[in-house]
Order: sequence, then C-alpha cells, then structure tokens
Amino acid sequence: MEGILIHGGAWNIPPESHDSHLKGCKKAAALGFDYLDDALQAAVEAVSYMEDDETFDAGIGSFLNEKGEVELDAIVTSNTNFGSVLSVQHIKNPVRVAHAIYHEDTFSILTPKGAEHYAKEKGFELVDNSYFKIQREIDRWRTLSQKPFNPLDAFTFSTVGAVARDLEGHIAVALSTGGVPLKKKGRVGDTPIPGAGAYATQESGAASTGHGESILRFLLAKRTCDEMKIQGPMQASQYCIAEMAKMGGYGGVICINKRGQCGYAYNTPYMAIAYKGKNREFVTI
Ligand code: ASP
Repeated sequence: MEGILIHGGAWNIPPESHDSHLKGCKKAAALGFDYLDDALQAAVEAVSYMEDDETFDAGIGSFLNEKGEVELDAIVTSNTNFGSVLSVQHIKNPVRVAHAIYHEDTFSILTPKGAEHYAKEKGFELVDNSYFKIQREIDRWRTLSQKPFNPLDAFTFSTVGAVARDLEGHIAVALSTGGVPLKKKGRVGDTPIPGAGAYATQESGAASTGHGESILRFLLAKRTCDEMKIQGPMQASQYCIAEMAKMGGYGGVICINKRGQCGYAYNTPYMAIAYKGKNREFVTI
C-alpha cells in the first residue's frame, strides 16, 4: 500500500513549537502523498516543502554555524543509489539538487563549490546566504555564542526527512538539514551520508535524525533497513534506537517496508512525525 512518513526532527521540541512542527509535517505528508505514483518525487516534494518552512532546521530557518553562516546538507536515495550535497550555502532547495545528482552516472556527492556550480548549470535557484538566516536563529546564535558551547551537546535536532512507498512498491528517502547549532564550519553530520542519515533498498527505507556523530558511527539508517529483514518496521526501529542508545547515541528514525508498513522510534523527548497512506493518516509528537 502506498504511503509517506515524514519527520521534522527528534529533540526537546519546546511546547510552543509543537503545533508548527506537527502542521509542517502533516502538510508535507499531504503534499508528498499526491506524488505517490513516484516515491522519489514524493519524498523530494515533501522535503522541499519543509525546506521552505522556517519551522525546521533545513533551508530557510536553519541553525547557524560557528561563523554565523548557514551550511546545508541533503540526500535523496532509492534502491541503494543516491545523490548528496554537502555544506552548500547558496542553494535554495538542496534536496532538489541532491535529486538531480541521484540521476547522474559519474558522481554521487558534491561538495559546496561543485554543488553550487552544478546547481547553476542546471538552473536551480541560488540565493545569498542571508536568505536562510531568520531572526529566531540569529538570536539563538547570539545567546549560544556568549558562553562556551559544545554543538554536539546541543540536543537540538530539527532535520527533515521523508520515506515513501509508491503505488508500484518502489521506496525512496529524502533528507535535508542545517546540521546542529554553532557547528564547526565545514562539519558534515549523518544526514547526507548513505547508510547513516538515509538508506533505501528495494525492500525498505529509513531516515534518521539526531546526534549526527553517533548516527554516523552506528549507521542507523542501514541498520534499521537490515533489521527490517527480520522484524516489522516498528520493532526494527525500536531495536536500533535501543542499540544506538547503548553506545550513548541519541536521535530518532522513521522507516517503511515494501508492504507499506511503517515504523518510528526515538530516545529524545520528542520527535515530530506525520504519515499519510491510502487508508490511514496520523500525526504524533
Ligand atoms: N543529524 C543532524 C546532524 O547531526 C541533525 C539533525 O538531525 O537535526 O547534522
């Protein structure tokens, strides 16, 4: 059965932001659902919508790095093929460029200069870095910069992700992020790295969010897909989050299998999630 599952980050989402997180995830699921004759397009449309929603740490509204700039990572994957962009600063919708790279035969990952050159060549919208910086994040950056701050202890993760299963049973995953607040310039987390942030085979797909360095070490998305070979998506995601927690990692994962069954788990206080399928839809935080 076709369906699309969305996440809007796993972290200590402040109560006053619950509504905007749920609304954004729900809208993205509804939008993606309309494209479910093609899982890849559905996941890209949903994530691109969230990049344009200031609520989330992706596209406009992203966290600022140590220098007060926005650097964005994104990935699109299906059937183990993928396209990624790393640390881009001028691409309005990084997930769309990752999608274009997905279709390339001779490269899969582009770093900022190459990605932005490629985006220009292909006619994608480029913007000044200031486009991404909103007052909420400028204020957060000012406050956090005043005292010693370890971005890896931020416990603030608002990456966006989508896993989709289309009418023909194809599975695709898309993810986009601004990373963590005050991250080191050039730092890349799990999000655009296949197996860590996202993974998809012909049988299943998974999208992660949370503490990037532990997700990279644990390979959360790949391990969740592997686990779905032996148990259902809900159990598989819960098992993997529990295993990652044993090594001190924290975050969340959403996943879907070929039958369109979905699962999610997190060990952070909240994770914003929305699902829309043919016969069922829900939101949860
Ligand atoms: N995992 C992302 C990173 O470490 C952050 C997030 O999920 O919000 O860059």
